[in-house]
Formats: sequence, C-alpha cells, structure tokens
Amino acid sequence: MKYIGAHVSASGGVENAPLNAAAIGAKAFALFTKNQRQWKAAPLTDENIEGFKKNCDLKGYSPDHILPHDSYLINLGHPGKEEIQKSRDAFLDEMQRCEQLGITMLNFHPGSHLNQISPEESIKRIAESVNIALSKTKGVIAVFENTAGQGTNLGHTFEQLRAMIDLVDDRTRAGVCLDTCHLFTSGYDLISEEAYENTFTEFDRIIGLQYLKGIHLNDSKKPLGSRVDRHDSIGKGVLGNEVFKRIVNDKRFNNMPIILETPDESLWAEEISMLYGMIDK
Ligand code: MN
Ligand code: MN
Ligand code: ZN
Repeated sequence: MKYIGAHVSASGGVENAPLNAAAIGAKAFALFTKNQRQWKAAPLTDENIEGFKKNCDLKGYSPDHILPHDSYLINLGHPGKEEIQKSRDAFLDEMQRCEQLGITMLNFHPGSHLNQISPEESIKRIAESVNIALSKTKGVIAVFENTAGQGTNLGHTFEQLRAMIDLVDDRTRAGVCLDTCHLFTSGYDLISEEAYENTFTEFDRIIGLQYLKGIHLNDSKKPLGSRVDRHDSIGKGVLGNEVFKRIVNDKRFNNMPIILETPDESLWAEEISMLYGMIDK
C-alpha cells in the first residue's frame, strides 16, 4: 500500500495540517511544527496538541505516515561553538514538539561544513547533535534527508549518510528520507530502468533499506549531478512521468510517507490522484 501526500500548511496551528492534507486527497503528509524561518516559536498549546491528534484520528492519519520537516535555519554540523548550540537547542525543541504531538519521526537536513572544518569533522558534529537530541527524547526517529549537495551541504552521498548513522548511539532511532530531486542532482541517476535499479541497490548495500523511512517525491529542474536543488512538478522536470510510475509501483516504498514538495501547490490534489492512477492494478 502506498501512502502518498504532500508537505501541507500548518498555518493557524498544527491542528490544521491533517485537515489540509485530507482536502487534497493525501494519505500521508509533512508539516512544519513551527515557523521554519524563525528560531523561536511559542510552545504548542493543549489546544494545538489535542486538535492535532483529534484531526489525525478523524481523517485517518497514523504516525507512520506523518513526516514533519525541521527548520531551514538549523545546521547540526556547524563549525561555530555558539551557532551549533543554537541549532542543537532548536533541534531538541523540534523533537520535543514531535513527542508532544505523538509523531514518531522528524526529517532534517544533516548540516553544512561551511568550508570552515572538514566534511568528516562536520559529520561527527552532526551525529553528536543527533545523539544529544535522542538522549533527551523518547520514541522519535531522527530521519536524515539526502541532499542535492548544494554549497557545503553534507548528506549528498550514501557514504556520508552511512558515516553519520554509524556514529548514532541508538541506531533504532535513525532513519533516512530519500528526496528524488536531491538524489538525481547529487548524481544518482533514476531515468533508465537500469540506472534506477543501480541507485536503490547501492542504497541498500551502503545504508540498508531497513533505514528508509520516507520519500520526498519531486521532479527536478536541474540535470543529473548538477548539485543544484530546484524542485519541479511531477512529470514537468528532467525526471519525467516514467520514473514516478516506477516509484509508485516499487514495493520497497510501501507503507512509508511519500511526500510531494513540488513547487505549485495548486497541483497537489491532481498530482496525488495522477500518482495513484499510475499504480498497476
Ligand atoms: Mn528537505
Ligand atoms: Mn526534500
Ligand atoms: Zn530540495
């Protein structure tokens, strides 16, 4: 069974996210549990928390199919002493918000070395940041998202993601979310059937499919290996519909959130129904 949805708005309160997801026919969803462009946010109220749980029940969303995304400001691999502390505090807050909402996963971009320390050193910092957050929370899996490798962003190779996970103390609480646009622009081809098989065989060999907790389903405006992160609507970019048809028919991606982060949200309902329509009966 496929759980396809989108990264929906939580404006007006997190309790609105499951309603917004249901309105576009999503069977899974992503959200920000706080404003993604600000460091500080008001704590969740009882009304937010109860409303979120009630609306998830009402619309039939289980925690297995909800994949929140952390703030874009957080850099868990930051070279600076004060800056990394700020990021670690914010990440812990995000984890705690998930705990409060009964959400069991938090997706995040691993971090950036900013050319001030080596990638290896930054990877160690990222893992340490995750270990700190995991030690202070319960029941939430830290889900590392693969990146396009733009600038000094880490996590654009399976080897880097593996190195981070290897340094996590409790690996039962480490996972990976694969973004199809990021995969392609970081250099993992998906277009021919052979290239597609190679990419996921490599993922299984280097990281392990048991770590895969979700998919971000995006077409790409930029070519293979460009290391530029520009999402496109499904079928409108370089990847094209055949790749998405293959993905929605691939049993390896059953029972996990498959989330659209495509740029035109007015198309989400249509994209979701088109993707369901591509599944072989
Ligand atoms: Mn992301
Ligand atoms: Mn993504
Ligand atoms: Zn992206």
